[in-house]
Amino acid sequence: MSTTPTVDDPDTEEEPDSTLVTARRQLERAAAHVDVDPDVVERLKHPTRVQQVSVPLEREDGSVEVFTGYRAQHDDVRGPYKGGLRYHPEVTAEECVGLSMWMTWKCAVMDLPFGGGKGGVAVDPKSLIDDETERLTRRFAEELRDVVGPTKDVPAPDMGTDAQTMAWFMDAYSMQQGETTPGVVTGKPPIVGGSYGREEAPGRSTAIAAREAVDYEGRDLAETTVAVQGFGSVGANAARLLDDWGATVVAVSDVNGAIYDPDGLDTRAVPTHEEEPEAVLSHEAPETLSNGEILELDVDVVIPAAVGNVITAANADAIAADIVVEGANGPTTFAADAVLEERGVTVIPDILANAGGVTVSYFEWLQDINRRTWSLERVNEELEEQMLEAWDAVRAEVEAADLTWRDAAYVVALSRIAEAKDTRGLWP
Ligand code: NAD
Repeated sequence: MSTTPTVDDPDTEEEPDSTLVTARRQLERAAAHVDVDPDVVERLKHPTRVQQVSVPLEREDGSVEVFTGYRAQHDDVRGPYKGGLRYHPEVTAEECVGLSMWMTWKCAVMDLPFGGGKGGVAVDPKSLIDDETERLTRRFAEELRDVVGPTKDVPAPDMGTDAQTMAWFMDAYSMQQGETTPGVVTGKPPIVGGSYGREEAPGRSTAIAAREAVDYEGRDLAETTVAVQGFGSVGANAARLLDDWGATVVAVSDVNGAIYDPDGLDTRAVPTHEEEPEAVLSHEAPETLSNGEILELDVDVVIPAAVGNVITAANADAIAADIVVEGANGPTTFAADAVLEERGVTVIPDILANAGGVTVSYFEWLQDINRRTWSLERVNEELEEQMLEAWDAVRAEVEAADLTWRDAAYVVALSRIAEAKDTRGLWP
């Protein structure tokens, strides 16, 4: 019954760009539409700082291994740096810089008082047992102590790290500072200053973006079909919310392949990545598809919510949906974007669609520094409000200058950053 996923197949026609190349290219594209000082654009091509540290770890057998960690801080004109820490063997300084630039745009388009940061350790987290992950995290926190802090740089979970990692990071930082400092990281468990609704937030904002896009195209959500690639934190939460709001989710997938029911799936009955990893195909459905086929289904909305670079020049022509909502980061390559634009497919970009994560991280930081917990209802209401404000700002650019949603989102972000830089001036 299992089918072969195709999204990982090597794409011989198009080598995906590095995140830094993509981030710089997006900046230049946006700059062409904004009345911005070229010096500001030049400054934004470079990070403020990239901290590289060595992280020695005593393994369980008593040997010591030294890992390399990074923290890229792109721009803080609008506030402290904000962005994830990932544990992955392929973490590099360059990748962190590119991802930190994306975070700058994401925070600005959501109008959050943060700039972009990203970091991590080049390590395979699966090769570590829990005690080793804890020791690695505590030492990494200590090595970064001078450059992070609630008013300087506020990390969050990312690939290979989770709420427990953030709790250890916060504890290590707090012990050295001599005071409990929950606002140094976000994405913590609620018992130590985490926010309700944080885990669900990127999926929720993705669902809100899909709902608004459908409405903008003058359609009824109750008559909308949806396919979601990736049934993890982002994909499953987005699918279930859209299902709750009346859409018909006809297909979902995990790394092993997709299930398809033209009459609609019961998304609550399909196990998510967290509930039972990689078990989507265990759910009974009339048809199974590959991960390539799910993207090409004849549905109204397709939501790539698994990994990057899945819509490429090789399959952009075959995307049958009218609306693509980017739940994952960077699912559409630059070349594919041009094809989709030409074909009139609406693409709601990642920096807007999945920005619920960083937005609720901002709410978490507010709760931490104010020592006041918000209810889940309040978090979701404020997220809805913040998303709609961002949506309206981007929509205004789409309409005013006849831009794609991606270009419009970058224009909103760049305009805000450029205005802040202009107002503050260049020191000294
Ligand atoms: P996750 O690990 O919870 O789930 C990922 C899902 O994708 C799983 O169902 C997995 O089986 C599936 N998958 C993995 N590789 C696949 C492949 N090659 N083809 C098809 N399916 C595959 O991950 P997540 O947190 O939901 O993140 C998904 C994407 O969203 C990533 O691009 C991530 O960077 C982005 N994102 C996540 C957050 C967040 O806070 N969770 C925030 C913003 C963006």
